[in-house]
Amino acid sequence: MARETKAPSERTRVKRTNQRAVYDRDGINAILDAQPLCHIGYLRDGHPFVTPTFQWREGDRVYFHGSAASQALRASSNADICLTVSCLDGYVLARSGFHHSVNYRSVMILGKAEVVDDPEEKNTLLNNFIEGLWPGRVATLRPNNDQEIKATTVLSLPISEASAKVRDGNPVDDDEDYDLPIWAGVIPMRTVVGEPYDDGRLLDGVTVPDHVLKFGRS
Ligand SMILES: Cc1cc2nc3c(=O)[nH]c(=O)nc-3n(C[C@H](O)[C@H](O)[C@H](O)COP(=O)(O)OP(=O)(O)OC[C@H]3O[C@@H](n4cnc5c(N)ncnc54)[C@H](O)[C@@H]3O)c2cc1C
Repeated sequence: MARETKAPSERTRVKRTNQRAVYDRDGINAILDAQPLCHIGYLRDGHPFVTPTFQWREGDRVYFHGSAASQALRASSNADICLTVSCLDGYVLARSGFHHSVNYRSVMILGKAEVVDDPEEKNTLLNNFIEGLWPGRVATLRPNNDQEIKATTVLSLPISEASAKVRDGNPVDDDEDYDLPIWAGVIPMRTVVGEPYDDGRLLDGVTVPDHVLKFGRS
């Protein structure tokens, strides 16, 4: 796929350090799929709020969900929002405070968050969310009941007006500062998957399933 070099709109065109901009869908999808944690920016009673939550991608849309009573979800429903996803890949230490930086991958999506009304579609999406994280888990679970589906809001956001930004590599210092006896470089950062532990209430004979053992190891 040819890399898209043009922003989908003027307001999503990266201006600051625009050499770090990524607009092609493969690049954007890779970041969305790498990091479920996202932040939703929306207006509630005329005031901006940014709420952390989880997202998952299916094709050309990103989904997020929560309690039907959630103020964040109610204010985001059929409203213009900004969804961001960011991965911190490293601290970048330069020879001056000014040039310190971070290596990162991030995505911003602007658009209208649409409510998924159909209970069956909602149920499928919620199961897909779990399957996306732990393939094979849904088949092992008690199915969602009608009340649970009703109590859950699922919102869907098209990935049509989106940009990504990626910084990688070394610090960039002023030429004359490379003569200074100062350590400079990168401290890489990554999320580590810990050892799973059970909740202490397992029935006899219940063992750790493969989708738990394999999580984060592929
Ligand atoms: C983990 C992390 C840490 C950061 N730390 C800093 C920091 O300490 N100081 C700092 O100035 N910047 C930091 N950035 C970069 C920051 O996100 C902005 O890109 C930068 O501040 C420029 O903002 P702006 O509004 O001037 O961007 P502009 O270039 O004016 O933004 C125009 C459009 O470009 C797109 N865009 C801008 N930034 C991003 C982005 N990060 N990802 C995807 N699309 C984007 C949006 O569509 C936006 O509407 C960090 C980014 C990440 C992910």
